[in-house]
Amino acid sequence: NKQIIFKDYIHGFPKESDMILKTSTIKLKVPDGCSDAVLVKNLYLSCDPYMRSRMSKIDDNYVPIFTPSEPMSGDGVAKVVDSSHPDFERGELVTAITGWEEYTLIKSSESESETHFIRKIHHTNVPLSYNIGILGMPGMTAYTGFYEISKPQQGDTVFVSAASGAVGQLVGQFAKLSGCYVVGSAGTKDKVDLLKTKFGFNDAFNYREETDLDAALKRCFPQGIDIYFDNVGGEMLDAVLPNMRLNGRIATCGMISQYNLKPAEGVRNLLYIMAKQIRMQGFLVYHYRHLYPKLFDLVEPLLEQGRIAYVEDVAEGLESAPAALIGLFSGRNVGKQLVRVASD
Ligand code: NDP
Repeated sequence: NKQIIFKDYIHGFPKESDMILKTSTIKLKVPDGCSDAVLVKNLYLSCDPYMRSRMSKIDDNYVPIFTPSEPMSGDGVAKVVDSSHPDFERGELVTAITGWEEYTLIKSSESESETHFIRKIHHTNVPLSYNIGILGMPGMTAYTGFYEISKPQQGDTVFVSAASGAVGQLVGQFAKLSGCYVVGSAGTKDKVDLLKTKFGFNDAFNYREETDLDAALKRCFPQGIDIYFDNVGGEMLDAVLPNMRLNGRIATCGMISQYNLKPAEGVRNLLYIMAKQIRMQGFLVYHYRHLYPKLFDLVEPLLEQGRIAYVEDVAEGLESAPAALIGLFSGRNVGKQLVRVASD
């Protein structure tokens, strides 16, 4: 069983060497006496920015931290290879919090508590990996942050940062479907092209090439921004605040520009929250799981009718997982970053 082991707590930017490949032998069978357990073969693993928060020892962390010398873990698509659990049969496809390894044994205490969130896959007419993308946590994040937190109205002007990523590409398309004017920022020319051609953004810019973010935002939003879907925080948030319209909404989804910095950068333009009566609200997708049926109701027909796109970046092989994860922090990924561990 090949595994990617989390070496030890880190500071600053994560490196490939913070994770080590280890191989051990296991029996492809639920151990005798282990009731209500499921042994799964991992097919796809998800790389997500929140994993960085799991790599540092922070007392009041909002997600459980990784244990040094244990495998990394995260959302995965897997196939049941053996089961002593009455609800899961050999051969069934599931999503779960799986280890970064070829096979994971999910024990009863874990499958029944909230730890592993093991669920059967019902969406079989879409690529399997969509179950941890557009129909999984990133889809739910885009849905919650846009519809529940931002409260869009037809004609609103919407700005999305990290717009070509797992979450951002969906927010842009949801905004278009809601009759909004939407502009995205991303870190390369190819990503900017993707925003305009594949995802239907009205406009887009490469924030790395703009010498003046305020000027770029004024160029794209001469009348100001009604909704800012913030994936990055920092300098971009600072530039957005003065460009917000009266009664604008900011959905604080993430602040990826800050995750590797200690201390985080200061934001100087907070006064505009008062002056422009902005409502700025953070959210954690984990508290909105009850909305999954709403996400499915919205997205399934759109997928069927080919009215929504989802771009994925699939790294091949478990060995490529560390590089894929750290690539999120330099913008190496184009779309939702996944690792294909096995095809079946
Ligand atoms: P992405 O697929 O968008 O990947 C991360 C992207 O962030 C990179 O590709 C890069 O794109 C951009 N980025 C990296 N470093 C920086 C930087 N210093 N400044 C600006 N942009 C940067 O990730 P996700 O879509 O999965 O996540 C997007 C955000 O949503 C993250 O902040 C994440 O933490 C957050 N999130 C929050 C959730 C919640 O419950 N609140 C749940 C899920 C995600 P580029 O090339 O364009 O710079």
